[in-house]
Amino acid sequence: MAQVRSPEDRWAWVEVDLGAVKRNVRSLKKCLGRGVKLMCAVKADAYGHGAVACTKAMFQAGADQFAVATVAEGVELREAGITWPILMLNECPIDSIDTLVAYDIMPSLYTFDFGLAYGERAAAAGKVGKYHLAIDSGMNRIGVLPVDVVDFRHGLDFHRGLECAGTFTHFATADEVDGWDFQLQANRFVEAVTAIHNAGMETGLVHCDNTPGMILHPRAQFDMCRAGIGLYGLHPADSTRGIIHLEPAMSVRGRVTRVVRPPVGAGVSYGMQYRVPKQGVQIATVPIGYADGLARVLSNNMDVIINGVRARQAGRICMDQFMVAVEPDGPRGYRPNRPVEVGDVVTVLGRDGDEEITADEMAKLRNTINYEVTCNFGMRLEKVYV
Ligand SMILES: *Cc1c(COP(=O)(O)O)cnc(C)c1O
Repeated sequence: MAQVRSPEDRWAWVEVDLGAVKRNVRSLKKCLGRGVKLMCAVKADAYGHGAVACTKAMFQAGADQFAVATVAEGVELREAGITWPILMLNECPIDSIDTLVAYDIMPSLYTFDFGLAYGERAAAAGKVGKYHLAIDSGMNRIGVLPVDVVDFRHGLDFHRGLECAGTFTHFATADEVDGWDFQLQANRFVEAVTAIHNAGMETGLVHCDNTPGMILHPRAQFDMCRAGIGLYGLHPADSTRGIIHLEPAMSVRGRVTRVVRPPVGAGVSYGMQYRVPKQGVQIATVPIGYADGLARVLSNNMDVIINGVRARQAGRICMDQFMVAVEPDGPRGYRPNRPVEVGDVVTVLGRDGDEEITADEMAKLRNTINYEVTCNFGMRLEKVYV
């Protein structure tokens, strides 16, 4: 790990493998039927991986459209020179509509007031406001209810400032293979889309599958799929493992800033929750903390990799730093291959030699999902693209 690139001003960084992102895009595209488009979810700064760089890499690998969650996320992409279609996956405050229009960011639409205001602002700017209609097929989050869909469209379609460029829903249980709830949502969505057609109106691109959906439910691919987590090399659930090969794109690394050998009984970090159990234990400091997305709940309960071998994290994780105990003969059986030195690379997430710490391992220890693990590491650490 000596030759890694790291930022100049901090011994801690997120490493993003854009080659892996591109290979994941290609693997996911292989799951798609002929002509089905791929929309890439790059919300939350591309799940912590850096939205601008990831969006460009995904487009190079064959992505068609991009999805964000907020106005600011869409603006960031446009200001970086990205010209491909961007969908915001929800509505925003009406006051921000002019920004959407100015930057050509399509909103999802599901309330009448927002739709009318969007049409008016677009027409005032001499543009046609493209939108995607969100349908709530059963998740009870956002969207027009299926029974109201045709009325809703009738109420908006007179508006010359509006164009329906897509119609979509989102599944609550796409990761289940034979789910009753999934089938119910899919049926309601198909009925709503059919009702729009029968009323003589355009739906634009019809889409509903997320990563587990496109892998496990190819019949629901329609015109486009919205991939997220799979782009970053992580599985949405155990049900997709073995069906598709994905490569994790994120690693989190730091360098040891200090090493000491405290006497037996000495405590480490706030509250001294770790005490040096025997002679010869090295305590190494790493400048990554919970303000960087390393959840404090992992304190005293996670491993890191140093010089290709695991070591246990020791004491409470602080806001900006944590400590590692390199025990010559520790309880977890880890055997350091040499004493730790200042400047050694510490891998918090990712691979070093034969060892790997996955987002899934960390998620399990935190009682959460891999999505939250990578999003959190996007908070403050500088990104290094490899
Ligand atoms: C985030 C998101 C996706 C992507 O989901 P993954 O599970 O990450 O593939 C798709 N659709 C909507 C509406 C989303 O919010």
